[in-house]
Amino acid sequence: MAKVKDLTGKKFKRLTVISFIETRGKSSHAYFKCKCKCGNIIEVRGSHLKENNIVSCGCYAKEIGSKILTKYANSKKHIGKGNPQWKGDKAKYSSIHSWLKRHFNKDNMVCQHCNNNKKLDFALLKNKKYIHNRDNFILLCRSCHIKYDRNL
Ligand SMILES: [Zn+2]
Ligand SMILES: [Zn+2]
Repeated sequence: MAKVKDLTGKKFKRLTVISFIETRGKSSHAYFKCKCKCGNIIEVRGSHLKENNIVSCGCYAKEIGSKILTKYANSKKHIGKGNPQWKGDKAKYSSIHSWLKRHFNKDNMVCQHCNNNKKLDFALLKNKKYIHNRDNFILLCRSCHIKYDRNL
């Protein structure tokens, strides 16, 4: 068995490592049980913690994304260039999206804004970069996603 660096007790932004769970997959990635500042318990791959790919259970993105969506809902005004800014044709965009899909299971998840589970996809948070960081993205249903993109 590969040697596992025990991260128990360590803090990574909002996450505190509670315990080692097991190694998974062909490359024996170590998984840890972590407690988020908001109280949620999640399982995170050790390398994602060390590289700061994940800094919360998702509540960080939710807080920022919801603020933007709420602002949009209250303003009623159509902000932006007039159409949802889908970036699906950009190479970098799709590579990050497949990374998110590979590493973060969307099963049993709901829109982080309205709790709907229809056509979920990750939206990039305002002012964040397309990098391999789960917390730069909010998981939204199609309708929230369109509203969100319009407001960027
Ligand atoms: Zn959290
Ligand atoms: Zn939604």
